[in-house]
Amino acid sequence: MIVPFRNTRRLFVASYPIAIIHAELHTLFQRIEDGTVVFADGQISAIGPFREVRLPRRAERIDAQGRPVTPGLIDLHIHGVEGCDLFGEELTEAAQRLPRHGVTAFVPTTLTLPEEEILPRLQTMARVIETNPPGARILGIHIEGPHLSPKRPGMANPAWFRPLTPEAIPRYQAAASGRILLWTFAPEEGGAMQAISVLIAHGIIPVIGHSDATYDQAVEAIRRGARQVTHFFNAMRPFHHREPGLFTAALLDSRVIVQLIADGQHVHPAAIRLLFQVKGSSRVALISDAIPMAGLPPGRYTWLGYEVIVADGRCQTPEGALAGSVALMDEGLRVLIEEVGIDPLHAVRSATWTPAQALGLRTFGRLRPGAPADLVLWARWGIPEAVWIGGERLV
Ligand SMILES: [Zn+2]
Repeated sequence: MIVPFRNTRRLFVASYPIAIIHAELHTLFQRIEDGTVVFADGQISAIGPFREVRLPRRAERIDAQGRPVTPGLIDLHIHGVEGCDLFGEELTEAAQRLPRHGVTAFVPTTLTLPEEEILPRLQTMARVIETNPPGARILGIHIEGPHLSPKRPGMANPAWFRPLTPEAIPRYQAAASGRILLWTFAPEEGGAMQAISVLIAHGIIPVIGHSDATYDQAVEAIRRGARQVTHFFNAMRPFHHREPGLFTAALLDSRVIVQLIADGQHVHPAAIRLLFQVKGSSRVALISDAIPMAGLPPGRYTWLGYEVIVADGRCQTPEGALAGSVALMDEGLRVLIEEVGIDPLHAVRSATWTPAQALGLRTFGRLRPGAPADLVLWARWGIPEAVWIGGERLV
């Protein structure tokens, strides 16, 4: 599925070329141990082994001293960062904070509230996106709730849940000025199955999530065009050998990209290894599912009326349900590589190219001539040292 480019261009571009030399480059298909990447006018112009790439005269040289350089991270599912709630005005501030975490593009994600509170917030988000604020690229909006299963609510309040209807979609999309890109919903609830074609007609990618769908229901939703699963393993019907569920339908269908939280809390490392073995890194998209308390000290917080407790690297409701993550994409990438043991080439792919593919952004998430100069130089995995977006250095 191809979705139109939105907000993927920046106005500012460096007027002289930049060459990062002696880097461990993660291009997409290969790792170049002693590599050079050159970019100018917002785009990558050359890439290859150090000995083979001719540096342009006047290029500013940055010696990576063997450290990794990857495409910028792309987060499909994020609610907040460092006290900023993305579901409103603070989206502007969040866009400026995310590059410090290696994120160069993201899809701000909503939260379950009564519809009359959601629509004005969508208007605000659309206004912010329209201004193209400095920082990470805001690619569109991800709706998560209230069209969820009461059996798989996560932290959300089921009192506000209702099945997705075809009529709701133009209402939401109008409030968002057409900026909705992803829509997480439970296809087995009410007549939600009939809404899938309407989502697609409105340029929205249908995402199954917070769902108790059986195997047959999930297969039907995929047949109708659902192409992603929200935070795989979490808030969905688990595997059973006589009712293999959404779990198995998503694993078996190669058209489906599954989102994965890798904060060291939501999913056991062995389950992550299983997922990468079965789906491959081009079908697993790392997400943060970060909440506004990500990056804040431990304590009790209230977020849009929800009470949450942050302690020991996790965030929970008072009832003990996991309430999103307090780790961002940089930490997720580190966990995949250092704690789960995923090969860095594949871990990077799942945080860059795969989410770009999930949105139909063909040139993003890889290092090659013509690709946008969205790059991260890592001090070490998890710690970005320098970040460029459209060739502009932001960190
Ligand atoms: Zn979420």
